[in-house]
Amino acid sequence: MISKKGVSASPGVVIGPALVLDTEEYRIPRRTVAADQVRQQIVVLEEALDASRQEVNDLRVAAARKLGEQTASIFAFHEGVIADPKLRDEVLLLIRNNQYTAAYAFAQVMHARQKLFQNVTVEYLKERVRDLYDIEKRVLRHVLGRAREDITRLTEPVVLVTHDLTPSQAVSIDRDHILGLATNVGGQTSHMAIIARMLGIPSVVALNDITSDLGGGETVVIDGSEGVVVVDPDPATIDEYREKQIRLSRKEAALETLRDVPAVTRCGTPIAMWANIELAEETGAALHRGGEGVGLYRTEFLFLSADRLPTEAQQVETFRQAAESMQGKPLVIRTIDLGADKLLPSSSLGQEHNPVLGLRSLRYCLRHLDMFKTHLRAILRASVAGDVRIMFPMITTVTELRNAKATLADVMEDLEEEGIDFRRDIPVGMMVETPAAAMTAPSFAKEVEFFSIGTNDLTQYTLAVDRANERVAYLYSPHSPSVLLLIRRVLVAARRHKVAVHLCGEMAGTPEYTQLLLGLGIRRLSMSPQDIPSIKRVIRSTTIDECDQIATKVMRLDSDRQVWNHLRSQLAKLPLEESA
Ligand code: PEP
Ligand code: MG
Repeated sequence: MISKKGVSASPGVVIGPALVLDTEEYRIPRRTVAADQVRQQIVVLEEALDASRQEVNDLRVAAARKLGEQTASIFAFHEGVIADPKLRDEVLLLIRNNQYTAAYAFAQVMHARQKLFQNVTVEYLKERVRDLYDIEKRVLRHVLGRAREDITRLTEPVVLVTHDLTPSQAVSIDRDHILGLATNVGGQTSHMAIIARMLGIPSVVALNDITSDLGGGETVVIDGSEGVVVVDPDPATIDEYREKQIRLSRKEAALETLRDVPAVTRCGTPIAMWANIELAEETGAALHRGGEGVGLYRTEFLFLSADRLPTEAQQVETFRQAAESMQGKPLVIRTIDLGADKLLPSSSLGQEHNPVLGLRSLRYCLRHLDMFKTHLRAILRASVAGDVRIMFPMITTVTELRNAKATLADVMEDLEEEGIDFRRDIPVGMMVETPAAAMTAPSFAKEVEFFSIGTNDLTQYTLAVDRANERVAYLYSPHSPSVLLLIRRVLVAARRHKVAVHLCGEMAGTPEYTQLLLGLGIRRLSMSPQDIPSIKRVIRSTTIDECDQIATKVMRLDSDRQVWNHLRSQLAKLPLEESA
């Protein structure tokens, strides 16, 4: 039994067999063959090794010709590993003795090699781990031929263990069969994590090399609440986690009863509880969990889950359905926020050296006006179906906002000319998710009807920490004094200019932050629907006075650790009601 600590991405506990995908999404389940097929598996392995050796040899010759012997020598390492008789014998032994398939046996031996190299202290050898991944992929490509398996069509429930999962893969996940997720990389507010929470799939990210600890088929516990994965748990550990599962579902059921009670503090201040959604179909869940509106509809997922760009008609239909299903409650449609970790499958955004700081989101839209105008037309056309509002993401300068608004005005003019109905006074807001926008909030406040503070990106850009990079996850703290100062600045500007403010980053759905945010002056929160009950519970247990005191104290602290400890201790003191 081994236990690994990563970063909690989606809460809940599950226990199930591991399905391991390597970096190229090969699915290598622990499979055995009948005794009379062992010979054939040996032939498959030998042929794959021969073909791979030939390929690498060709690459080495071509590289030597073009780039010189020195560069070509990288391939000499590859050739050496593939031709290594010891490696071959180890794989053959597993095929013969355990009757494993060639793919599984080869993957097992390569994982052991990768682990060995990872643990050495000599930097040169450590760097060879990447080469070993490459070699593994190359040989497996030959072993498996076209037999790659598709994770969208699984037949048994599994815990998916993978290097990474793109948001577009995450939205197309087979949620009936994927019980839980564990990934080598990723961060708590990466979009893959946000999707996992939306789907209610317990997940742990940033586990470094979990894919090489597992071969597939092992029993795995995912404790998404604690960010822990246990491989091959003993019976006592399984019992422990089963009990935890029962405790969690009781807690969930108790929280369910808060659905219809108002989100009002003990002193009588109402707090608006809105929901974040990624797909139009989620409006039902948003209302069911007590959402009073949708504060953030991440429309880019409509683009990410399709093979090609959705047409205007498809977008209108989707947005109209979402607006209608809100039963008159507000729906804030954010214009597409593609880029960074949300890349289209076709990768039409192109390769960028640093996509988080690149042509993402509104920047991309303003460069691709045809696509942007079609998108805006669709939002406007759907705006008559409900209380639709529009929000622009990732703004850094007032000029950018003005350009976006000018484009919206152009589109409105076109629709008028065509005689197409739309909501002329549609409220226009913006995300405040860059330090630039937060610092100059007073200028922006004169230009929009509402702000929505996006703490996920605001934290990323303020602290210069890629929110999806597990190596710097320890620095990612929305409660850092610098981020809190920016939030306060936005609230002051908004109050002065009478602009409404929502906060829609993951902070809004984290109970430890609720009192602080109320104390800073936030009165509207937008979060994943499933977080609404637990945040409502905190709201109903506190008073604005208590929240003010917490905020005053926190704003005097100078380290994020002190802030976190204070918030946790204050939350622990609250007399949280168990149910309504
Ligand atoms: C944010 O950045 O806080 C936000 C809500 O937007 P997203 O998570 O989609 O980037
Ligand atoms: Mg954002």
